[in-house]
Amino acid sequence: MTDDPLVRVEDLRKYYYERDSLTDRLLGKEPESVQAVDGVSFDIYEGETLGLVGESGCGKSTTGETLLDLREPTGGAVYFDGENVFERDDLTSFRERAQVVFQDPFSSLDPRMTAGEIVREPLDVHGIGTKADRNERVAELLERVGLSAGQVDRYPHEFSGGQRQRVGIARALALEPEFIVCDEPVSALDVSVQAQILNLLEDLQDEFGLTYLFIAHDLSVVRHICDRVAVMYLGEIVEVGPVDEIFENPGHPYTEALLESVPRADTGEQGREVETLAGDVPSPRDPPSGCRFHTRCPYAREVCAEADPEGYAVDGDADHRAACFRRVEDHEYWSSPPLDADDRPAEHPADN
Ligand code: SF4
Repeated sequence: MTDDPLVRVEDLRKYYYERDSLTDRLLGKEPESVQAVDGVSFDIYEGETLGLVGESGCGKSTTGETLLDLREPTGGAVYFDGENVFERDDLTSFRERAQVVFQDPFSSLDPRMTAGEIVREPLDVHGIGTKADRNERVAELLERVGLSAGQVDRYPHEFSGGQRQRVGIARALALEPEFIVCDEPVSALDVSVQAQILNLLEDLQDEFGLTYLFIAHDLSVVRHICDRVAVMYLGEIVEVGPVDEIFENPGHPYTEALLESVPRADTGEQGREVETLAGDVPSPRDPPSGCRFHTRCPYAREVCAEADPEGYAVDGDADHRAACFRRVEDHEYWSSPPLDADDRPAEHPADN
């Protein structure tokens, strides 16, 4: 890809400090931090959908909220159309151009406001048009997302889950944004309704030339809608690449495990946890040394606990990168001994 991206995320970090007392400071103790997002970088190009996937708690929603400047970043930069969002004095234009659709429309929509008021609120706040113009725009938006203008006076509890998400999407569209962070927009919906909302998002993208960051824990959903996918584990991106490459030729063992946990349509198997991996997800308060995945990786060797892998091209494809030493032919990984039995999963391919 050669064009400049619409969104460039560089070394984004978001830490939460849990214990930061004056006494600890006087004793010279560092405050305890949860490294929710730790050095994440990626680009999103105009008109594309980038999927951001990983288990719950991996930092993907925090990444979306921080890049929108809805949470204060700990470090790094986000460039939107070439300008650093975190250095702007006035975010009004950014707020108009970049919007969000949340996972749970029931909790993200104010239950005391009607659908019309919810969709009109961004227009009111940004002082767009006359009151009559805004009401006309609200009616148009409700119809565009598959509701009717006659539902303008209904409250969120009077809609179904799918309809509520349509209201949330209409609200996100109100200011005619170019970029939308879709934060697990179908996770809370019935499977039958998920496809309808995904189709709506795709239609809106075609019609308005929208660019999406699509956050999900379900890889099967991602395949349906994304052009490229970034995989997150414990606050870091471990793999990024075109969607078909990620599915057909995964470059990171964590991605392999996520793919194995995807429900199989042909067998009717239901969704599962990432049960192919040994061990629990480590705490982001005290992430493992070296490759953060080494405590669960079936291929881990000693070097994996010592050195931090960068994103290496998978099979020479610069657009497909994985943070795993196994992607580098002459890396010392290949001569490194397997990790001690206590530090590695029980079935270790390096033993075979
Ligand atoms: Fe596994 Fe080592 Fe690759 Fe990390 S670098 S994913 S521990 S093989």
